[in-house]
Amino acid sequence: MVKLTEGRGKELFRKYGVAVPKGVVAGSADDAARAVASGAVPLPCVIKAQVLAGGRGKGGAVRFASTPEEARAAAAAILGSSFQGETVREVLLEEKVAIARELYLSFALDRTARLPILMTSARGGVEIESVDDSEIERQTIDPFPGLVAYERRRAARSLGLTGPLVGELDRLLTGLYRLFDDEDAELVEVNPLAVVGDRLLALDAKVIIEDDAAFRHPEFAAVHDDRTPLEEIAREKEIAFVQLEGNIGVIANGAGLTMATLDVLKEFGGAPGIFLDLGGTDDPKKVTEAFLLMAQAKPKAVFLNIFGGVTRCDTVARGLVTALGSVAPSERFPLVARIRGNNEAEGIAILRAAGVTSVPDLKASAQAVVAAARGGP
Ligand code: GDP
Ligand code: MN
Repeated sequence: MVKLTEGRGKELFRKYGVAVPKGVVAGSADDAARAVASGAVPLPCVIKAQVLAGGRGKGGAVRFASTPEEARAAAAAILGSSFQGETVREVLLEEKVAIARELYLSFALDRTARLPILMTSARGGVEIESVDDSEIERQTIDPFPGLVAYERRRAARSLGLTGPLVGELDRLLTGLYRLFDDEDAELVEVNPLAVVGDRLLALDAKVIIEDDAAFRHPEFAAVHDDRTPLEEIAREKEIAFVQLEGNIGVIANGAGLTMATLDVLKEFGGAPGIFLDLGGTDDPKKVTEAFLLMAQAKPKAVFLNIFGGVTRCDTVARGLVTALGSVAPSERFPLVARIRGNNEAEGIAILRAAGVTSVPDLKASAQAVVAAARGGP
């Protein structure tokens, strides 16, 4: 998932003729103060953390300033701080506009209808999840004609827009739909879309580019997204590796078994948080690489749960044993293995020779991992 920061999203908005407030992205408090002092950002202004998480307004990551000094202080306070686990490296400074109304608008993919969908609501500025269904207008879009006039009129009506604002919305929707389509987005969200006098301004921008189309958009590849450094390495090596909260590592094969393993560990009070899906790999080199990546994530304990189908238990075991040999003693962690299926006996023998016991019972093995992560027996 390639999520763009608000600043990058608004660059795209400009490219497609969608009106946004005058603004500048700054990486330091000095640059922020300069942007204001030079007049590039008119006062009063808004200073916003450029992180991928939402809810910045409520979380203190959107601030206001009426002098260059205030802008500097606000930028200094936000830059380098952490917002929902993400370090703020950039702020967006924008002229503060006088909002008459806050609206909501988004184009997304409706996976059930298998069509793009336009969602509009007169209740903008709050999380859309908290808005009652009856207050959201949903229109699926036929991609062949694209967004058509009556759909735009219906959107205008749902937003309660009249007079010159209808024409404003018309242009805005046309531009945003073109962006959604041309840039292979899976989401283009404007919340709030602000009524400012007789104009409509996109005050926020959330753009997510569809992963499967990312190869068509190398320009977004350099964009920092929400991958951790280890996830980034894994991606380059084509290893399915995910890091979340939790101290237990899970190595399994296939998304289904990985998820089921997670559930079982949770069931027994464990906190699985590092997932490695070997998929159909039984290439010992790949298994070794994957395992070393797991070691770098510093799990408290690791559960290796392999079902040998296409994958052979003995090759996975061999890769694992090689990997174990290259993990520094200081970085070792308790390992509980459960390998079943194709060439199971050979696999178990290889593991046993390396001092790793395979516990065949799922419940028993999961409990053993949870206990090991707690530092217990
Ligand atoms: P989010 O909370 O992460 O979605 O950040 P937003 O960019 O949506 O900003 C949060 C809120 O800040 C908005 O809903 C507005 O109420 C307020 N805000 C942002 N820009 C302006 C502005 O130019 N003028 C005014 N008055 N309020 C703003
Ligand atoms: Mn917002």
